[in-house]
Amino acid sequence: MTFFDSHNHLQDAALDGVRAEVLRGGAVAGMVVNGTGEDDWAAVARLAAEHAGVRPSYGVHPWRVDEAGPGWFERLGEFLDGGGHVGEIGLDRWRTTENFPRQLEFFRRQFAEAGRRGVAASVHGVRAWGALWDEVRTDPTPGRGWLLHAYGGPPEMVAGFAARGAYFSYSGSFDNPGRERKREAFRRVPVERLLVETDAPAMPLDATRSRHPLSVAGRAVHHPADLAVAYEGLARLRGMPVAELAEIVAENYARLFGS
Ligand SMILES: [Zn+2]
Repeated sequence: MTFFDSHNHLQDAALDGVRAEVLRGGAVAGMVVNGTGEDDWAAVARLAAEHAGVRPSYGVHPWRVDEAGPGWFERLGEFLDGGGHVGEIGLDRWRTTENFPRQLEFFRRQFAEAGRRGVAASVHGVRAWGALWDEVRTDPTPGRGWLLHAYGGPPEMVAGFAARGAYFSYSGSFDNPGRERKREAFRRVPVERLLVETDAPAMPLDATRSRHPLSVAGRAVHHPADLAVAYEGLARLRGMPVAELAEIVAENYARLFGS
């Protein structure tokens, strides 16, 4: 079986100790590695240049819009000129609401840029589902499609986002206790829009379920090889064998991110 990680941050320093092992292959056949701000785009580009299975993605994460200096958008364009998708971008009212107008401005420019270039966009949303819906409801969305990574919004909104071109990636952390609403959302995702992700090093699995427990400086870290656990969780949820899900996800991944 071939597993694809639709969203991680393999460039992150928390993964320094396991990166080489993950890239040697085996557990993960391909992955989209997402930058979060100007300071990590070069590391993402390097990983993509050195490893055929890595699809690079460049963007300013909503948590980092206040750090972006003048000229960020031009520098983003320079990285995208070298090939790659747009992300991680998004809207988030959980950490702070004060900079929401700036988040909106960054989201709009980057999301539109994905459409203009014919590439995918990887979108993070937290406590901003109404605002995100307002952005995509009528305005054009990237023609190739776009990803709602670790979708944690209302199950009722899945159909609308899907009609506007969204794909949805399942996180293994959704099988942690207390996440029934997130699992309910993934029962409703159209099969041709299903993807799987880790978001490693973020969103670690429950310690009892991880097969690759990893901790860095006393903090639990999501090991990218735990992607298999996410596939198993989603296969259970959708009532299909893991091998069948793996085939579907491979097709969806190739359609959105390129094979
Ligand atoms: Zn992420």
